[in-house]
Amino acid sequence: MPAAAYNDVSKVFEDGNDKIVAVEDLSIEIQDGEFLVLVGPSGCGKSTTLRLLAGLETITEGEVTVQDKIVNDEKPKDRDIAMVFQNYALYPHKTVRENMAFGLEMTTSLSNEEIGERVHNAAEILDITELLDRRPNALSGGQKQRVALGRAIVRKPSVFLMDEPLSNLDAKLRTQMRTELQELHNEIGVATVYVTHDQTEAMTMGDRIAVLNAGELQQIGTPLELYHQPVNEFVAGFIGSPSMNILELKYDQAAGTATDGDVTYKFTEDQLEKLAEAGVEHVNIGIRPEDIELADGEGPRTVTADVSVVEPMGEESYLHLNVGRHELTASIDGDYIVGNDQQIRVELPESRVHAFHPDSGEAIFNRNRDSEELPTGAAL
Ligand code: ADP
Ligand code: MG
Repeated sequence: MPAAAYNDVSKVFEDGNDKIVAVEDLSIEIQDGEFLVLVGPSGCGKSTTLRLLAGLETITEGEVTVQDKIVNDEKPKDRDIAMVFQNYALYPHKTVRENMAFGLEMTTSLSNEEIGERVHNAAEILDITELLDRRPNALSGGQKQRVALGRAIVRKPSVFLMDEPLSNLDAKLRTQMRTELQELHNEIGVATVYVTHDQTEAMTMGDRIAVLNAGELQQIGTPLELYHQPVNEFVAGFIGSPSMNILELKYDQAAGTATDGDVTYKFTEDQLEKLAEAGVEHVNIGIRPEDIELADGEGPRTVTADVSVVEPMGEESYLHLNVGRHELTASIDGDYIVGNDQQIRVELPESRVHAFHPDSGEAIFNRNRDSEELPTGAAL
């Protein structure tokens, strides 16, 4: 039984004569104990999706369930969920203890003793016991966020819903809280739906990631599935940083290449078969910055590039390259010395290249995964 599910859910907002389709025909099952991240650009419908499950928006079509029970018509407090928001919305005049207890006092018939015990346990888990008698204005951002989490934990819900809960924190604290949230999740083991627009957060935190664009689910899978096997150009570009490079090229069937004069990429036999099935005349070639390699000489998959900007990151350097009308980003070993305005030759390794349909954006083929040998010691 999934902890919660969306079954063919749509949400349409009416704005005067305008209809805004915020969520379109969405189906997702949230498995027991899993940490599911909903990710996508601003305005793609993430918050609405979460609010539909929370009961803060009405559903236009479809069903939402919690523990296999349809909850479309249940009040938020009766849905067995707890939500954590971006702004912590703590009551300023109440202590931490009172803030954590308040929701339970208002919406349950638990005894004061039981409530006190739940607050105490949640405070221990979150390591904020010594803050229980403080008021919110005497807390740091990270501490406030922990209290907001505590308020959710004391409800002992079937599902946690979190809407960009870390976005008000500075970068360092955000990274730290990311780890803390994962530890918390491991400890409590309650299914969590976590919304973020940040693909790094999605990659690092999600057991599975659901990518949304314009109200529609694009793909759902593990972080590595999305990274290696994106179903379309949108997912390919959204997951991974810096973004995957896309080269819009003509498919020269006779030569077995994708080309435009500036760049020529020679397909393998396997890749040609997939292209034949797709029946395209143009093709968008995708290659991640970290997959581009420096080349020694000319080859069937090399291009000559002008370096426009070098961004040293330490471990690696990002090179911004001009290849004719194309701009590429390559990530190379930080020890390699390369200057602006230098000309270099790079290779697009055949095993690392993706191809996308020029109109639909759907993947025609993805990079190889099977044939690669993992170093011994890799835990699988
Ligand atoms: P996200 O959280 O991914 O940034 P939202 O779910 O907030 O996106 O919004 C999705 C779309 O629905 C946007 O186009 C937004 O403008 C629209 N929308 C959200 N809430 C309302 C509302 N109450 N009334 C009208 N349109 C809304
Ligand atoms: Mg939002």
